[in-house]
Amino acid sequence: QKFVYDFTEGNKDLKDLLGGKGANLAEMTNLGLPVPPGFTITTEACKTYLDSGSEPAALRDEVSAHLDALEQKMGKKLGQADNPLLVSVRSGAKFSMPGMMDTVLNIGLSDKSVEGLAAQAGNERFAWDSYRRLIQMFGKTVLGVDGELFEDALDEAKAAKKVTSDTDLDAGDLKKLVKQFKKIVKGATGRDFPQDPREQMDLAIKAVFDSWNGDRAKLYRRQERIPHDLGTAVNVCSMVFGNLGPDSGTGVAFTRDPASGHQGVYGDYLQNAQGEDVVAGIRNTVPLAELESIDKKSYDQLMQIMETLETHYKDLCDIEFTIERGQLWMLQTRVGKRTAGAAFRIATQLVDQGLIDEAEALQRVNGAQLAQLMFPKFDENAKVEQIGRGIAASPGAAVGKAVFDSYTAVKWSRSGEKVILIRRETNPDDLDGMIAAEGILTSRGGKTSHAAVVARGMGKTCVCGAEELEVDTKRRRMTTASGVVVEEGDVVSIDGSTGKVYIGEVPVVPSPVVEYFEGRMHAGADDADELVQAVHRIMAYADRVRRLRVRANADNAEDASRARRFGAQGIGLCRTEHMFLGERRQYVERLILADTDEEREESLKALLPLQKQDFVELFEAMDGLPVTVRLLDPPLHEFLPDITELSVRVALAEARKEPHENDLRLLQAVHRLHEQNPMLGLRGVRLGLVIPGLFTMQVRAIAEAAAQRIDAKGDPRAEIMIPLVGTVQELELVREEAEAVIAEVQAQTGIELKLALGTMIELPRAAVTAGQIAEAAEFFSFGTNDLTQTVWGFSRDDVEASFFTAYLEKGIFGVSPFETIDKDGVGSLVRQAVEAGRATRPDIKLGVCGEHGGDPESVHFFHEVGLDYVSCSPFRIPVARLEAGRAAA
Ligand code: PEP
Ligand code: MG
Repeated sequence: QKFVYDFTEGNKDLKDLLGGKGANLAEMTNLGLPVPPGFTITTEACKTYLDSGSEPAALRDEVSAHLDALEQKMGKKLGQADNPLLVSVRSGAKFSMPGMMDTVLNIGLSDKSVEGLAAQAGNERFAWDSYRRLIQMFGKTVLGVDGELFEDALDEAKAAKKVTSDTDLDAGDLKKLVKQFKKIVKGATGRDFPQDPREQMDLAIKAVFDSWNGDRAKLYRRQERIPHDLGTAVNVCSMVFGNLGPDSGTGVAFTRDPASGHQGVYGDYLQNAQGEDVVAGIRNTVPLAELESIDKKSYDQLMQIMETLETHYKDLCDIEFTIERGQLWMLQTRVGKRTAGAAFRIATQLVDQGLIDEAEALQRVNGAQLAQLMFPKFDENAKVEQIGRGIAASPGAAVGKAVFDSYTAVKWSRSGEKVILIRRETNPDDLDGMIAAEGILTSRGGKTSHAAVVARGMGKTCVCGAEELEVDTKRRRMTTASGVVVEEGDVVSIDGSTGKVYIGEVPVVPSPVVEYFEGRMHAGADDADELVQAVHRIMAYADRVRRLRVRANADNAEDASRARRFGAQGIGLCRTEHMFLGERRQYVERLILADTDEEREESLKALLPLQKQDFVELFEAMDGLPVTVRLLDPPLHEFLPDITELSVRVALAEARKEPHENDLRLLQAVHRLHEQNPMLGLRGVRLGLVIPGLFTMQVRAIAEAAAQRIDAKGDPRAEIMIPLVGTVQELELVREEAEAVIAEVQAQTGIELKLALGTMIELPRAAVTAGQIAEAAEFFSFGTNDLTQTVWGFSRDDVEASFFTAYLEKGIFGVSPFETIDKDGVGSLVRQAVEAGRATRPDIKLGVCGEHGGDPESVHFFHEVGLDYVSCSPFRIPVARLEAGRAAA
C-alpha cells in the first residue's frame, strides 16, 4: 500500500484517498499550472493512525523519499541553515470542513534557518515574523499550548511599543517576541520548541491526523452529515510567500460570480500579505480587477488559468493564489460553493456554452436549493438595521413583535398579532409558542438544537445561536452587542436563510420562482429574469427524463388547483377527515353518539350531500387526472369535545343544577371512546368495519360525484383508498360493501363507473403480507408516516419535540426518520412490499403519500425501488419533480 503521493501522481478523482485539496492540487499540477511542489499523505494513513494509535510502519520511509525528491526539485533542504526550504502542512478531507482542522505554516524554521531565510529574502523582519508565526501556530495546534498566552504576549509587545498593529513591530521586536514565545512553549509543555525541522514536520502531520477527531470537527461532521470514518489527508507543500514586498501578494478568485453565476473577474487581492492576513481582515483587500494595474503579467496569467480551470472542471471554481516577487502560484482550487440561484443559472449557462449536457445540468442543482428559492425573501432594497446574526436554521423571512415566552406568544397570536418567539434556547414546553409564532430566534444552540429541529419540522423560520444577543426572559427584553434594547412588543425581522436579525419591519417580497410556478410570471415573458428562465429550463429537463409521476396531497379544490399549477399529475392523498370539521362536526358527533339505526342513518344522510359536493369540486379541479380519496382515518374522539373541558362543563352544570343531559351523554361517549394510544386504536379501516354505514356513505359520495362529473362531460378518475389495513380480510370486507354501493349508483344513474379500490401500506404487517393484500387491492400507497411510526415505535406527534434533539446530537441518526426515509428499516419493508405486491398483481399501481414523498433523498429511494409515483404537499411538488428527474438522469 502506498501512503504518499507526489502532486504529480494524483488527480481530481482521487478525493477519497487524497482529500479534496490534495486531489485538486494534483489535478492542477498535471494541467501544467504553477503549483508549488509537494506531496499528499493519504486518508488511509490517517485511518490506520486513528485506528491503531500509531502511523503505518512504512509511512516514515515514504515521507523521507518524497521529501528527498522535493528537496532536489527545489534545490534546497528542509530547514537548511543558509537557504531553507519551508513547507506548510495542511489538512484536507474529502469534504471541505472549513477551519475545522489544523494547518501549520513555515515548517522548517529554527534559530539557525531564520537567519538563512532573512538573508535569502533580504528581509529580516519578514523572517522573524514567519518564525514567530510558526512557534505560535505550532505551539497552539501541535503542542496544545493555550493560544491566549501567545496573543497576550503579542499584545504586550505592541503595548510596550505603543502601537496597535502587528505590522508596526520591527525585526528587533519580533526577535524578542520569538524568545518569549519559546519560553511560553517551554513553560507550558516542559520541552523546548523543536529545532529539528523533520521533527517539526512529523509532529505537525500527526497533529493534523489527530485534528480529525477534534471536538469542533466532530460536531461539524455531525451537522453536515459527513461520515466519521473518512479520515483526512495531509498536504505537505513548499511555501511560497506573498509577504515579501509590494511585488508579492495573495488573493482569492472565482471563475464566475458565486451569487449571480455571471462570468467575469470576481475576487479579492491583498498586496504584500499572506493568506492568514486576508482571513484576519487586518488590511483591506482590493477587487481582483485592480491586480491588472498592479502586476499585469500575473493578472493575465491568472485569467488564463481561470479559463483553463473552468473548461477543465466544467464548473465554477474557486481559487487561492499567491504572487511571490512577480511569480504566480496556485495554492488551491475546488468546485466552488454558490447560492441556490447561482446553481440554477450556472447549470444552464454551462449547457449553453456546450460544456455540459442536460443530464449533467440536473446533477448541478438539487431540491433543497429549489426549496430555498421558493421561500419569500426580505426586500433587498429595503433599508434595514441589522442587530445580530445567528445560524440560518430554518429558511424563510419572518416579521413580528418580540415576545419572550410561549404563553405571551400564544396569547398575542390569538388576538391576531404576528409574533417572533425569542428565547435563550427552546425546550418542549415552548412548543405552543413556537406553533403560534411567525418565527423563532434563539441566542444559544446550533443546527441541531431543539429550536432548529422543531422549526424545520414545522417549516417555520428559525434563526438560532445568535450569540451576541443577550436574551433576558425575566425582564422580557433582549440586548444587542451594540447596546440596542429590544423590548417585548418591539417589531423584529429574522431571515432564516441568512441568519440575520433586524430591528423593525423589513418588507417581504414573494419568491419569483413561486410566482412562476403559480403562472403569474412566464419564463418567456419580458419580465422573467434569468433565474426564472433557468428554473424553467431545468424543470423541463427533469420532467422530460423522470419516470416517477408526482401527485399532490390535497383535500380541497383550491389546493388541488395550486398543485396542478405546480405540476401535479393527480392527487395521491385526499384526507377526508378534513372534510368533517367546522359545522359538519355536529353530524359526525351525532353519528358517533347515535343509539339507534335511524339516528345514525339520519346523520349519514346529512353528511352525504356535503361529501358529494366536496368530491365534485375536487374531481373538477383534477379533471382527467387520478384522485385518490382516502376514507376516514383518524380516531373518532378527534371529532368529540375535549374531555377535560367537557367534564368541567358537566360538573358546573351539575353544581348549578342546570340541565346538562346532552353534555352528560357526550361525556359518556367521550369516555367510552377514550383511548390510551389512539394512533394504535380505533381508526382507519377499523372504523369502517365498526361504524355501520360510514365507509359506504363515503363510497356513495365518491360514486355519485363521479357520475355527476361524467354527466357533465367531465373525466373523473377517482380511486378509493382504505387506510391502516393490516390484513387482507379487512380489505375484502370493505371491498364487498363498496362494490355493492358502486353497483347501486351505476344502476341508479345508468352511468358506468370505473373506480379503483386500493389500500395504504402503513403497518408492518401490511408490508409483510403485501402479497396477500394485493389480491384485494388494485393499488398500494405507502403511508410512510405511520409506517415509520409503527416500525420504529416512535410516536410521530411526540418524539421530534422530545428526545430527537438528543438522538441527533448523539449521532444515532443524522436526520429524523420522519423527514428522510429510513432506507434500512422502513425502506426495506417498502421494497419487500413492492416486490410481493407486483408478484401477486403485476399491474398494481404503487405510490407513496407520506411526508417522505416530497423529501429529496427519499424521492431517489422511491425511484430506485420502482414506485410509480410520489405524492406530497402542493408546495413540495416542484422539488419532487426535480428530484425525480435527477434520480432518473
Ligand atoms: C401516512 O401515514 O404516511 C399517511 C400519509 O397518512 P396520515 O399522515 O394521514 O396518517
Ligand atoms: Mg397514515
